[in-house]
Amino acid sequence: MGADDVRRVAEALASARSIVVASHVDPDGDAIGSTLALWHALQTTGATVLPVLARGTTPPATYAFLPGSSAYRQAGAVPPPDVFIALDTPNLARLGEAAELARAASFLVFIDHHPDGDDVGHVRIIDTAAAAVGEMLFDIIPALGLSVDKAVATCLFTAVMTDTGRFSYGNTSPRSLEIAADLVRHGADPSAIFRAVYESRSPGALRLIGRTLSRITLAAGGAIAYSWVTDDDLAETGALPEETENLVDQVRALGGADIVFLVKESAEGQRVSLRAKGAADVGSVARRFGGGGHAAAAGFTFSGDRAALLDVLVPALAEVLP
Ligand code: AMP
Ligand code: MN
Ligand code: MN
Repeated sequence: MGADDVRRVAEALASARSIVVASHVDPDGDAIGSTLALWHALQTTGATVLPVLARGTTPPATYAFLPGSSAYRQAGAVPPPDVFIALDTPNLARLGEAAELARAASFLVFIDHHPDGDDVGHVRIIDTAAAAVGEMLFDIIPALGLSVDKAVATCLFTAVMTDTGRFSYGNTSPRSLEIAADLVRHGADPSAIFRAVYESRSPGALRLIGRTLSRITLAAGGAIAYSWVTDDDLAETGALPEETENLVDQVRALGGADIVFLVKESAEGQRVSLRAKGAADVGSVARRFGGGGHAAAAGFTFSGDRAALLDVLVPALAEVLP
């Protein structure tokens, strides 16, 4: 984090009358947690501050427990702000319906940890070593002269917990754990947050996990494993689209698999979630298919059918196996 970048953001915030905070489409715990943390922290600035969704009308029910989740607005219902802060996305495309607001803002800031950014924005604070944007905000919020209270700590803990896979993926650093400890000191309740995110699923979501597990398919001698769910599965189990967020984690439980993926098939096409458990760079593969993400967690959307996707994706992944 450059001191000069933070100073420029602080200056923009000091004169702002309206501030929008937003993150990527299909938001995860880092997207929602970071957005609401910064939204809370900015309340003391005196500006009108709004968290804005990149798509849809409400944030995922999983994160409705977070303080401030009912403050979310649809992008179309908000006028262009003085300052727009984009979190957990490296570009405008991932901002969905909020991209137009970002473009129209007087001052545009990106705070992100993805490796595949373009150079849009007046200030870009990018740290690809951070496991979550929530980690970055733990430093940036105080550097902006704002404070980390219990609500902010709860949101940031959720962000770091989810992006590190409950402090277990390869991105979990000593810093991740130190920040988590500090957030608990600031009032975050790990077991309450854990229960809300991972043990408050609907019956439909669990039935969908059952379907996902029952379809696990191996390739490359077991080094690649995948599964899929369709819109029909959602309708038949009663699971919501947003309840597919962590479904790919079910596949990664398989021993011997270095790369796993989940295909979510809908009328819009095949949304693919790629995960590398070890050294493989699945982000490079996602970019070849027009998507993006990190080395260990990436995604893209494919417009053909599932068989056509598997024909090209499995060999492409086999090439990057460790
Ligand atoms: P997901 O599989 O949706 O949880 O996404 C895993 C990672 O890949 C996240 O960092 C996403 O921001 C990124 N990602 C997923 N889909 C896309 C996409 N279509 N374009 C760019 N990045 C993506
Ligand atoms: Mn994210
Ligand atoms: Mn993230």
